[in-house]
Amino acid sequence: MKNSPEKVWLSAPHLSGREQKYIDDAFTRGHVFPMGPNVTGLEDDLVQYLNTEVCACVSSGTAAIHLALILLGVRQSDEVICSSFTFSASANPIVYQGAVPIYIDSEPETWNMDPDLLEVAIKDRLEKTGKKPKAIILVHLYGMPAQLDTIMKIADDYSIPVIEDAAEALGSTYRGRAVGTFGEIGILSFNGNKIITTSGGGALVSNNPDYGEKAVFLATQARDPAPHYQHSQIGYNYRMSNICAGIGRGQMEVLGERVAKRREHFYFYKNALKEIDRIQFLSEPSEDYFSNHWLTTFVITEGSNREREDLRMFLQERNIETRPLWKPMHLQPVFEKYPSYVNGVSEDLFNRGICLPSSSNLSDADRDLVVASIKEFFGIGSGA
Ligand SMILES: *Cc1c(COP(=O)(O)O)cnc(C)c1O
Repeated sequence: MKNSPEKVWLSAPHLSGREQKYIDDAFTRGHVFPMGPNVTGLEDDLVQYLNTEVCACVSSGTAAIHLALILLGVRQSDEVICSSFTFSASANPIVYQGAVPIYIDSEPETWNMDPDLLEVAIKDRLEKTGKKPKAIILVHLYGMPAQLDTIMKIADDYSIPVIEDAAEALGSTYRGRAVGTFGEIGILSFNGNKIITTSGGGALVSNNPDYGEKAVFLATQARDPAPHYQHSQIGYNYRMSNICAGIGRGQMEVLGERVAKRREHFYFYKNALKEIDRIQFLSEPSEDYFSNHWLTTFVITEGSNREREDLRMFLQERNIETRPLWKPMHLQPVFEKYPSYVNGVSEDLFNRGICLPSSSNLSDADRDLVVASIKEFFGIGSGA
């Protein structure tokens, strides 16, 4: 078994060459500032692509979540429900607001928020505090849509607004409709490791045009309409740069190809590793779900944390980057003091699961190397 001469990355940026014309245009016209034609262009592209009403591009996905919480009136001591199985950026803005995150564990089908636990939590919070949670942050992890029908029904029954964290799920749909457009507000990320990138950036989307306008207002220092600088609210400097948005516009032109490629990787891995009956891929539970398969992930059935780490190290020695699944928020030192409603699913996924190299520019040779290495680890065939 040969090592890869170049590192095989988990999820690398993939430029198309189409970004440059938008950036050149910004330079030629001197549009080197936040906002500008590339920003509005990218917002229009996203509105069209997602079939939603409004989009506000901002400096990061985290900033978009922070703004979403402010728009929904989340304040000091409010409780906000959040998926536990996620990246910390989903939850950090809750604490920025002085609010209290309430973590909900996963169901085993999509690995996203368990609807039963969600309802248990809402009832329990009502009983314990007499107050309804102010919002629900629902994550579509690794591109897999959550159980949207059931979760939106519960949220509607209790009239709690949903923020969809679709940072990893641009291009994913549930029953043909883009994720991020089901809740009051959806957020996206264009960080360097996501399915498309602006080098760093994010967006807030909504079917409610008010939220778009207010998000832009807050993201540009909350300036009241006056010739002098006047403020009656605290503002933020969260707007996206017109240069970054230029990269995003070029990336939007190839988003369809990027989704197709990531999905192709998933089916390739799943097929090439089907002899190994001890691994189980995160797969769409039914035709209702369409995942962008941002990352291909699997768990070692009846495996241990030790075995998963052995696999990860085995691949690392071959210059292949993989990553354990996200460590749930209710197990994070910084968050463990907050209430959580758990069933053990996400902790178990964290112990036994791994993310495979899934970049849309991953070469066939590198993909073959990953497959051969995993087979070798599990003692199947000679690989390459
Ligand atoms: C990347 C990510 C974010 C945050 O996006 P940034 O643009 O990096 O701030 C939020 N939630 C999830 C699930 C993510 O993967």
